Amino acid sequence: MVRQTKAEGGDVIKIFATASIRDGGKQTMTDEQIAAVCGEAKAQGMRAVVHLYPADTARKVILAVCTGVEHGTFLDDATPQLMHDCGIVFDPNYPVSDCPTVEIPACLSIRRPKTEILTTRKTP
Ligand SMILES: [Zn+2]
Repeated sequence: MVRQTKAEGGDVIKIFATASIRDGGKQTMTDEQIAAVCGEAKAQGMRAVVHLYPADTARKVILAVCTGVEHGTFLDDATPQLMHDCGIVFDPNYPVSDCPTVEIPACLSIRRPKTEILTTRKTP
């Protein structure tokens, strides 16, 4: 999938490592699958953005050298700083006023414009 997307002109892979928040947001990809996608994206010179909600999945993404995390609704207080220290772009992708699990100042300091990580995949 990563190589095919690269061949089609994509430079970002977005994977859904967890279920929708409407279905509880639990991790649905295995740790190995996350590591494989992020590792191959890195090898291909692409960014890998991961849709996730819980902190334990975010920490696996940090280990898997992915480049971005979206949502993170159930992150603990320490994980956003860890992502920042590891150079991972965090796009909460929800209004700052809806940051129930991350302190508001931390949420403001790590929030980046969504355009930084939007895919530029070309349509075939
Ligand atoms: Zn998403």
